[in-house]
Amino acid sequence: MGGPDQYAQRHLDAEAPYYLASGNEVTIFEQAHQRKLAVMLKGPTGCGKTRFVEHMAWKLGRPLVTVPCHEDLTASDLIGRFLIRNDDTVWQDGPLTRAVREGAICYLDEVVEARQDTIVVLHSLTDYRRFLPVDKTGETLTAAPGFQLVISYNPGYQRMMKDLKPSTRQRFVAMDLDFPSEEHEAQIVHRESGADPATAHALVALAGRLRGLRDHGLAEVPSTRLLVATASLIAGGIPAREACYAAVVSPLSDDATLVDAMRDIVDATF
Ligand code: ADP
Repeated sequence: MGGPDQYAQRHLDAEAPYYLASGNEVTIFEQAHQRKLAVMLKGPTGCGKTRFVEHMAWKLGRPLVTVPCHEDLTASDLIGRFLIRNDDTVWQDGPLTRAVREGAICYLDEVVEARQDTIVVLHSLTDYRRFLPVDKTGETLTAAPGFQLVISYNPGYQRMMKDLKPSTRQRFVAMDLDFPSEEHEAQIVHRESGADPATAHALVALAGRLRGLRDHGLAEVPSTRLLVATASLIAGGIPAREACYAAVVSPLSDDATLVDAMRDIVDATF
């Protein structure tokens, strides 16, 4: 376990983290925040969920505590534990407890990765009383004003054993995020990477073609994040084809037939 500030993030910058909205997601999130409702962001990896939460935390003036979830994440990792320090036993809040005390936005990224018994500790915070029992210290904390629970979830990763239980899902306002429209995605890639607009447009067109390969066995399609990385390489002087082979094609598949097909599409684009 890391230090107490492992997960803390405060956006005190003068400007909001850049987020280009696709629809009315900003308004819906603001309304949910005001009404103390927990939010579930659904969408493919790299489509902008994390950036959206960062943007909203800044806009709402709340600290943001981000927890990347994984299968070994325990309830104690979230809530806290007693540590031995210089022969003393001291209590250390976990990220969820800290967010509850501070009135922060607590963002649990890829929540389905966590075990059910870990996810269950979130339930009382989605109750209208918004409380968190800390069994080990005997406390029951009421969430400070401004606290909000946000989880992200990639429906494409649904596996029989790893899906959110209906009893959990129904506690959240769900918002569907997807890859932005071509025009928006090109704007994002240009702005985030510094690559020229023509390169950004070409990369987005390439992504459109590659995303069509999903039906031909490509499990993961190129995300906006991947396009931003590729565009940064190009902006840094790497020839476009090489950048696409390294940052788009190779990360997506090891299958020789798929790799060849993707390379052909790259060659036809650049
Ligand atoms: P996710 O959390 O869905 O996996 P991220 O929020 O980390 O995805 O997005 C990956 C990257 O894509 C961001 O760092 C940002 O550069 C870019 N991005 C994606 N969507 C947007 C958007 N709507 N506005 C601004 N940047 C975006």
